[in-house]
Amino acid sequence: QPARKPRGRQFFANPGPTNIPDSVLLAGAHQTMDFNDPNFIEVYDGCIAGLKRILKTEQNIFLYTGSGHAAWEACLVNLLSAGDTILIIESGYFSISWAKMAEDLGMEVRTVEADWRRGVDIAAVKAALAADTGHAIKAVCVVHNETATGMMIPVPEVRAAIDAAGHPALLMADTISSLGSLDFRMDEWGVDAAVGGSQKGLMLHTGMSFNGVSNKAMEVHKTSKLPKHYFNWTNMLARPHKSFVGTVPISFFYMLQEALRLIEQEEGLENVFLRHSRLARAVRAAVQHWSGNNGPQLFCLNPSRYSDSVTAIMMPEGVNADALRAIALQKYNVSLGGGLGPLGGKVFRIGHLGDLNEPMILGTLATVELAMKVAGVPHAPGGVAAAIASLAE
Ligand code: PLP
Repeated sequence: QPARKPRGRQFFANPGPTNIPDSVLLAGAHQTMDFNDPNFIEVYDGCIAGLKRILKTEQNIFLYTGSGHAAWEACLVNLLSAGDTILIIESGYFSISWAKMAEDLGMEVRTVEADWRRGVDIAAVKAALAADTGHAIKAVCVVHNETATGMMIPVPEVRAAIDAAGHPALLMADTISSLGSLDFRMDEWGVDAAVGGSQKGLMLHTGMSFNGVSNKAMEVHKTSKLPKHYFNWTNMLARPHKSFVGTVPISFFYMLQEALRLIEQEEGLENVFLRHSRLARAVRAAVQHWSGNNGPQLFCLNPSRYSDSVTAIMMPEGVNADALRAIALQKYNVSLGGGLGPLGGKVFRIGHLGDLNEPMILGTLATVELAMKVAGVPHAPGGVAAAIASLAE
């Protein structure tokens, strides 16, 4: 059966990539040019300054043509050597994927295990570091916002645990699904390597990623021995743009310039955060209502760690989340995120980050409720009314 072409706009409720504002799409329709052209350099420099403001850093930044995985790999190969030990804080599918990457690159990985529905006990992070009296651990890696489970891990508490243990390890924080949606403060929180990507809160296409790097980490970089070339920060510093070993993806910067204008000038970064938390509360109100009658539930069981950019929703026992997603997509043209790793088929996810407003969220929630009714999924009807009540508060 060829795919049906539905009428009307698709409601795209994935947690990344996210909706791209029309003005950002149009900004990308820019004729190509020499990346050393002074007109482009001006745009580029403005974007770097803007990205630093969003990351809340005055330190270093390096960019790559590649998705978030590229920036994950870049900070590992630039800061570590084969056989080095890193401590990964388990949060879900993405923390495990980052750990697997580190193993493939030749590192020893220790994990602070955690229940994916409740999140890590920070005392266990402190204990793991305190037990490492020989300082074998060279870096602590945390995913600020675990996109697979809809949970936010408090990075300042991780920093405090490292400091309380008097441990010199670097702190690496993945802000891929938090940057530009949730508050992230690289310098204030003492993050040594931040990992960001283009396709979520920054509202761009997939394909550009970056690291914010502390001055302390730049010193550590000098002694790192893992093989690297395209990702090598030393090579980059010798390049005119201090990033990009190779051709600079110029259209990304025209789009980023416009996205930064929307975020910082048109809306204001603090208002962006407030909008995300308002929409997230409405989504949670709907799910909490549906959970009556043995309906679907919030996957995250720790209210202090609810993510304001993505909500993972756990289906009732024996009900397949992907069947519900298929109805939402094929019948109603609403695209929802799926469960990742062991949560496949058990969980679906509503992304509520990026270029999004109340009608888009209400439309998505109403369609989920419709699809549940059509599919015979048990739930308490009225989740949309609960979301409206939350938004009207
Ligand atoms: N880290 C987090 C928290 C993510 O959500 C993702 C992707 O969704 C990644 C890393 C991997 O990034 P990418 O898919 O852009 O390579």
